[in-house]
Amino acid sequence: MDPVYLDNNATTPLLPGVVAAVREAVEQEFGNPSSLHPHGEAARRLVERARGDVAELLACRRTEVVFTSCATESMNAAIRGALDARKNAGERPRLVTTAVEHEAVHEIAADLGRRGVDVVKLPVDAGGLLDPDDLDRALDTPTHLVSLMLANNETGVILPVEEAAAVARRRGVPVHVDAVQAVGKVPLAVDRLGVDLLSLSGHKFHAPKGVGMLYIRRGTRFRPLLVGAGQEGGRRGGTENVPGIVGLGAAAAHMAGGIEDRRRHLARLGGRIEERLLALPGSRLNGDPERRIPGVVNLSFAGIEGSAVVLTAAREGVCFSAGSACSAAQYGGSHVLEAMGTPFEYLYGAVRLSCSELNTLEEVDRACDVVVRAVRYLRSMDPARPEGA
Ligand code: PLP
Repeated sequence: MDPVYLDNNATTPLLPGVVAAVREAVEQEFGNPSSLHPHGEAARRLVERARGDVAELLACRRTEVVFTSCATESMNAAIRGALDARKNAGERPRLVTTAVEHEAVHEIAADLGRRGVDVVKLPVDAGGLLDPDDLDRALDTPTHLVSLMLANNETGVILPVEEAAAVARRRGVPVHVDAVQAVGKVPLAVDRLGVDLLSLSGHKFHAPKGVGMLYIRRGTRFRPLLVGAGQEGGRRGGTENVPGIVGLGAAAAHMAGGIEDRRRHLARLGGRIEERLLALPGSRLNGDPERRIPGVVNLSFAGIEGSAVVLTAAREGVCFSAGSACSAAQYGGSHVLEAMGTPFEYLYGAVRLSCSELNTLEEVDRACDVVVRAVRYLRSMDPARPEGA
């Protein structure tokens, strides 16, 4: 049996069109986009075409698109760069974010906290949603930047970024959004979202690893993280990763279209997963049932460890994560589920199945068969299993 890959929030396979574009770029052009001769010009053309494709995805200006190595770099640049540029001499910078951000943002915040930045993490409700009024109250104290995610990587919950950005705009505070998990599933027009900075990672939407993107709205105060030889309009030093950027551009062009069809397909896959797995006794859906990225399902099975389900299913070729791929390696419970007030018996049993447009209903059915078997097997090993399970 072919393996089934349902871990697309961790990373995605490359689309065939992306592979073809990257291969062509690698085989046909090795130039440095900064060179003046024809090889440089050809490489520059490739990078600029990709910039145009990303600008279309975000409905922004091409000059507002900066290529990076990954979202983690983009977010470091956005948060550190905006705080650095906005703080006045003698002032204590202030960052407002949420309790459910990706580890990368939390680690940046922790590092900044150690360096004297005042960091505030806003709570979420039981569904994982932020209340924009909480943000409004937090901004009573002068703040230099708000950073929040659009879609949560563990639960797929879509945070009210538009409403939050409107609150911040009224207070004159710029907003950075981590839109890594939203590409091709939520419209990303930056004016509509009302954000000033936005981070993406190529490998989360069918482009290669090692390439990311930071949108910087024209006029946003920003100090570059990587200073160098003036690449990317002086906002990110370092010779551009031309094949990676070509791949990211091709993937962005693909994801900019067909959002409704993609959402419908993913909703069908996610709906089937929920129907099959929530029928198991002692199971529970984590995250708001409505405001979620379609095709992302985070469930807990009372009394069993999510990582045990993951490893048991992996033996039968079905791949997904316990909570998030990043926290799985150091698994001690998810900060996201904890922030949502998830009851203890469900906190450690969480698994995340995340689909992409490349998955089929037949794959999802096979995966569900395997998960059901895994959960029953693990429960059969546990004499203290829940009633009826
Ligand atoms: N933000 C979110 C929501 C993510 O899911 C991830 C990756 O898991 C990142 C940021 C970081 O992306 P990368 O590891 O590609 O830098």
